[in-house]
Amino acid sequence: MDIKMIVAQLVEKYDTRDPFKLADLLGVVVIFEPLGSIYGYYSRSHRTKVIHINENLSSKKQLLTAAHELGHVVQHPEANTVFLKKNTLFSTDKLEIEANTFAVELLLPDELFHIGDCSGFTIYDAIEEKGVPKELLSLKTIDGKKILP
Ligand SMILES: [Zn+2]
Repeated sequence: MDIKMIVAQLVEKYDTRDPFKLADLLGVVVIFEPLGSIYGYYSRSHRTKVIHINENLSSKKQLLTAAHELGHVVQHPEANTVFLKKNTLFSTDKLEIEANTFAVELLLPDELFHIGDCSGFTIYDAIEEKGVPKELLSLKTIDGKKILP
């Protein structure tokens, strides 16, 4: 199933795009702790899934990190990944790209962009208001087309 569809089904089922609320609803524990230069990671012990988030990040980066790690929880529940470190947003690792795509689709629904409507969100608003880095916007698609050239 494609990632956009996975996100759409989650949002439909739980009626929220908030990664923290979704984590809670999915029974995932979220822990805030100091992690140095690491944004966050996902771990699993026995049946408990845990998202670790660096407590020293801005709230926007915490949101992005939660969305990314939730992408791992949903798509790669068996993996133990210590990723999304600083400067790894360009990662070419398949699992990382999938988690980033999940995050972008969760945080930036198509409706935000109101194609053809001047009052709509621009790519720059997405970067500024949602804290989604430009590098990640290249993963966002609407009707199968990338929003960045
Ligand atoms: Zn990751």
